[in-house]
Amino acid sequence: SIKNVVMIQCVGARTEKRTYCSRICCQIAVKNAILIKEANAQAKVYILYRDMQMYGVENEELLREAKRKGVRFVNYDPSRPPAVEDGSVKVYSPLLGEEMKINADLVVLSTPLIPAEDAEKLSKLLRVPLNENGFFLEAHVKLRPLDFATDGIFLCGSARFPANIKEAVSQALGAASRASIVLLRDSITVEPIVSVLVNEDACRGCGLCVALCPYGALEIRQTDKGRKVHVIEVACKGCGVCASTCYQHALTINSFRDDQILAQINAFLES
Ligand code: SF4
Ligand code: SF4
Repeated sequence: SIKNVVMIQCVGARTEKRTYCSRICCQIAVKNAILIKEANAQAKVYILYRDMQMYGVENEELLREAKRKGVRFVNYDPSRPPAVEDGSVKVYSPLLGEEMKINADLVVLSTPLIPAEDAEKLSKLLRVPLNENGFFLEAHVKLRPLDFATDGIFLCGSARFPANIKEAVSQALGAASRASIVLLRDSITVEPIVSVLVNEDACRGCGLCVALCPYGALEIRQTDKGRKVHVIEVACKGCGVCASTCYQHALTINSFRDDQILAQINAFLES
């Protein structure tokens, strides 16, 4: 019974509050538009868009198919967004230079995919980072897209960034494969260069280094001498952040003690 469908893209997306593009809303809208046309060829389906995000050969073909089936695409200017009124949608078309009034039995808003509600809680629990949009941040976008910088924790799908089903499944297979490499090994080789608490008495247990360690390799423990930092050696990557942070010089990196580094600098300057 629905004859006029209007889909509006980028509703609440790519704004000051939520700056990113969710990538997959356009392809979902186009897929749904094709399904509507296949169910009822007489239905009028409009997609009002800012930019069509149809990356990849398959999605481009989907867009062409939608156009062949008669889905109508109307570009709109974000400074003059479409307005939904009783039974219709008004939209200014920069191409035509005039406002269009489109009848609508059904208006579909494509709103952005957002991070999971508990992402921040999980991030703190596992000591893995989130990006500026609140999604989990991979170790390297091209070289290690399914890994966290912290060993043994992997990510995939929309935890990382909005992904369609195909992408999520292939990433999940990749993450499972990465995890199986760890599980199949009899032993794990850890970093030889790690942080060492060289002066326990100097440590005040302030927790500054714990907060700054990017790998979650430090924790504060209650000892006979009071609160002291403890290095979790298997998690430490020897990055040196803690040693350079500690104002008490309680921590150092083995093989990179201050006197060793100074000796290197002096040797360099003398040569
Ligand atoms: S090692 Fe230094 S920074 Fe870390 S808890 Fe102890 S005093 Fe604070
Ligand atoms: S060297 Fe780096 S990884 Fe290791 S405990 Fe210090 S800050 Fe963490």
